[in-house]
Amino acid sequence: MTAFVFNEPNFDNHEQVVFVSEPKSGLKAILAVHNTHLGPAMGGCRMWNYASEHEAITDVLRLSRGMTYKNAVAGLPIGGGKSVILGNPKTDKTPALFEALGEALERLGGRYITAEDVGTTTDDMAHVANKTRYVAGLGESGDPSPYTALGCFVGAQAAVKHHLKRDSMEGLVVALQGLGNVGFDYARRLHEAGAKLVVADIDAARLERARAAFGAEVVPVDSIYDVAADIYAPCALGATLNPATLPRLKVKIVAGGANNQLATADIGDTLRQMGILYTPDFVINAGGIIKVCYEHLQKPQSDVEAHVRQIGDTLHEIFQRADREGRSTSVVADEVAEDRFKR
Ligand code: NAD
Repeated sequence: MTAFVFNEPNFDNHEQVVFVSEPKSGLKAILAVHNTHLGPAMGGCRMWNYASEHEAITDVLRLSRGMTYKNAVAGLPIGGGKSVILGNPKTDKTPALFEALGEALERLGGRYITAEDVGTTTDDMAHVANKTRYVAGLGESGDPSPYTALGCFVGAQAAVKHHLKRDSMEGLVVALQGLGNVGFDYARRLHEAGAKLVVADIDAARLERARAAFGAEVVPVDSIYDVAADIYAPCALGATLNPATLPRLKVKIVAGGANNQLATADIGDTLRQMGILYTPDFVINAGGIIKVCYEHLQKPQSDVEAHVRQIGDTLHEIFQRADREGRSTSVVADEVAEDRFKR
């Protein structure tokens, strides 16, 4: 097998990529520190049953880079990093596994601070915290998802105002993919604001919960791309905006919490040409990291909500600049971030 980190297309001069193997607990993890110009790298730990090691490397490189951009645009004094644990989150979790991750973080000496992400929970992070200080988002109050959902909601409001010239969500149709920690709470806010929800998830219990709580219409997993709606809200995994799904979309706005929604960077421009307003993922989904960062830096929790709500203002500026310059919102958002972390 040839070496494939430096040559991997998603390698973007990451400062450090660490492979961790701890046979006693069975931990196999990859920790990626993308950029620390604004401060120590911060970003969650994903646990996923990757089909291959290469898939895990691709994911951690993409996700950690995304965190640099997200943290910079959100105005946080931290850099970007991410970690992935290779394993099945439903069957392979043990306290020892997360303690071994904590030991690995400790060895990095604070260059990277982790938190929960897809496949991990705040309880898992409590085990990490047995071995290191470099973990955030602990305990019940440490769950970042409600703040991510809030950011998605204010981001969707900003997009609706800009693109549909409407101040209200009343009667808008939202096709929402993924009713997990973020998606469900985002759905609740949309429902409370009067939007009609069409939802898809691979988990039948979550679908049932959304149907009962919000009167959501359920569609098969793959049909979510065919729903005629005002907003497509991707809240599951990445790369759902790709050459196979784009021709199927019948929406005016994309506004969701998932990371890395564009399969390739040029899709931002394709969406613009299709007349679809794309709210860049790393801008709209920064609510959770804002919450986690405040906690870790011991800044007042009472200020978190106001900071998250600024996501709406940031998006408004990005939309306006993209219109003015005739460029995609994703390219403009990248530049806003780069101006900050490359300065
Ligand atoms: P989660 O694991 O709680 O929820 C994901 C949901 O998506 C689950 O309900 C799962 O069943 C569903 N799902 C998986 N594959 C699917 C598919 N093919 N079609 C439809 N549904 C599918 O995760 P989460 O914390 O809600 O995060 C969701 C997304 O938001 C992820 O991309 C994550 O990286 C991103 N994100 C989360 C946060 C946060 O605060 N949790 C912050 C920023 C970004």
